[in-house]
Amino acid sequence: MKHTMRPLYGRFLEKPRRQQFLPSGPKPAYIFHGVQKADAFFRYCPICTAQDRAQHGETYWHRMHQIIGINVCAVHGCQLLSTTVRLHNFNKRVLVAAEEVVPANLASTTHGNSIEWQLAKYVAALLHAPINLDSSISISNYLVAHIPASYMNGKMRKLSSLLADYQCYYTACDVPLMNYWQLVSVFSGRRHNPVDISTLAMFLNISVTALSGLLQT
Ligand SMILES: [Zn+2]
Repeated sequence: MKHTMRPLYGRFLEKPRRQQFLPSGPKPAYIFHGVQKADAFFRYCPICTAQDRAQHGETYWHRMHQIIGINVCAVHGCQLLSTTVRLHNFNKRVLVAAEEVVPANLASTTHGNSIEWQLAKYVAALLHAPINLDSSISISNYLVAHIPASYMNGKMRKLSSLLADYQCYYTACDVPLMNYWQLVSVFSGRRHNPVDISTLAMFLNISVTALSGLLQT
């Protein structure tokens, strides 16, 4: 499990599904429509690749570079580059070694903006954080409790206003953003995509320590 995407994609499921999903469930990625797209390819960071080669004599696939929707390296902030190796079946076996397909002469690096880099760090931290499978905490309840007062009108949530500011916050980023109904689905516990939840939580100023710690107690 340590080498798969399960800790990330299973993290925010409700307890019964999380318990099924995380340890050894058969087809985890397919729970999320659109999480693993057929046209997605293994990616790499040019700086990580150069460091791998200097330190280990070869490079390898990094999990944090394969998260759909995150397009910069969490460590270096530079744009991830794509190979021609298809990403599906990531949780099974990776048959093509990175060293075979990542070019020897790497193109110069392009950096993403600071918010995009911060989000990459945020999601990578979730990928690496331990999970308590027995926790009954609901991510949607937690997020609802953290809606700032400025987006509340008595007990009514001003989600259109929240959505507009959320989309504005990420305006210069190459990040997949939720629409109104996807936002409603996250708050009502029907949407568990970790990148969507991370974009929202980071916008709401919820620290990654708090978010990843939710399921550790
Ligand atoms: Zn890197």
